[in-house]
Amino acid sequence: MTIGESILELLKQEISEIEYNRYIKQLSFCTQDSKSDFALFLAPNPLIASWVRTKYSEKIAHLFEIKTDIKPKVSIEVKNKRSSQLQTNDIVTQTPQHSAHQSLLNPAYTFDNYVVGSSNQFAYSAAQSVCEKPGSAYNPLFIYGGVGLGKTHLMQAIGNRLQTQGKSVIYTSVEQFVNDFTRHLRNQTMDRFKDKYRKCDVLMIDDVQFLSGKTQTQEEFFHTFETLRSEKKQIILTSDKQPKQIAGIEDRLTSRFEWGLVSDIQPPELETKIAIINKKCEINRVNITKDVIDYIATIIDNNAREIEGILSKLHAYAKLMNQEITLDFTKNVLKEQLKEKRENITIEYIVKFVSKELNVKPSEIRSKSRSKNIVYARRVSIYLARSLTQSTMPQLAQYFGMKDHTTISHTMKKINELLKTDENFKVKIEELTNKISAGEDV
Ligand code: ADP
Ligand code: MG
Repeated sequence: MTIGESILELLKQEISEIEYNRYIKQLSFCTQDSKSDFALFLAPNPLIASWVRTKYSEKIAHLFEIKTDIKPKVSIEVKNKRSSQLQTNDIVTQTPQHSAHQSLLNPAYTFDNYVVGSSNQFAYSAAQSVCEKPGSAYNPLFIYGGVGLGKTHLMQAIGNRLQTQGKSVIYTSVEQFVNDFTRHLRNQTMDRFKDKYRKCDVLMIDDVQFLSGKTQTQEEFFHTFETLRSEKKQIILTSDKQPKQIAGIEDRLTSRFEWGLVSDIQPPELETKIAIINKKCEINRVNITKDVIDYIATIIDNNAREIEGILSKLHAYAKLMNQEITLDFTKNVLKEQLKEKRENITIEYIVKFVSKELNVKPSEIRSKSRSKNIVYARRVSIYLARSLTQSTMPQLAQYFGMKDHTTISHTMKKINELLKTDENFKVKIEELTNKISAGEDV
């Protein structure tokens, strides 16, 4: 089995059988053109290619990273490009299609491509100021907000801008940073690690909430931070919550996160969603009418990440069926997706998600344990299951091993009280609701 095939096997275990058979099974791994940091898969037609590209390429890259320690650029191309009639004007997704050695910044994540509305106005202005005076305006710039609200895009827009001004920019996920750190530690090449992260002009770390609990990396990051800041090098961080709300981070780091400017990004209003869809159509050269755009804006959650997937799908289906993208056509094509989305949120999924986020076992959530953190996780799960699935009270009672539905309604009452009085609890529930609705992986 080639490495590519074994990665697809791993992916198989994580997705539904239907999805696997429909898309992933159709792929072949191109050993010849792949390298350690570049993985090429071939799809039989553009529909499958664009679907896999938007939906799975990040996941595939991640699985490679777990298996090989290197996160490659994943490319999905159409087999026998020239002979396929369907190929003309295949949609350009915003995933960077660059060669394996280029910078990790997505060239499409620019200020020009960023739609500004009241939900992100403040963060946007802060980002602009950082570009004008890197290292001194706001250092660090800390941007937080829910999934798919444009944090990564905005951060990389700064990176792209500063890079064109000749600054050396490092963009990294916490995961990459940790991997890099442990590899250099193991190989006793820490001086190279320090060179890399302490000598850049701009260091951007995405989703710093994942530093939670990683004491040794936090220690290293602390020193990196101190060095960069004292030399007036710009640091930019993003997170799904504000510094104080991230558990498992040393106080000295939390306080430093707040030294510069902390700015949130709120969920977009309908108008901004429409503008983002328009922008994505423009970038991807997809022509759709206003009624279709309005419709898409109403069915997506706040997560703008869904937009490209939807556009790819519409575009591919329209070509396949040789049809215009009308409103009826759109509703038809997206019907299955909407259904799938609703069906994907099961009680099991919620419990698995909560158990991961709150560090308890799913079996504990379903047990009768009265220990404080387990009761907490159980309450959160019940609330989310009630609000995000169609489950009835008796069904929930049965699932959570409770006597009958009155116990559930009692729990719900308690939770509603907590939501009113306990700000932290409210924030946690909102955060989990966002993540689960966005279909984040467990
Ligand atoms: P986050 O990092 O907050 O999860 P991303 O930056 O990855 O979100 O954004 C998800 C997708 O939505 C990207 O394709 C991004 O370009 C797009 N997007 C989000 N907000 C905006 C915006 N204000 N303008 C244009 N595109 C946006
Ligand atoms: Mg992001």
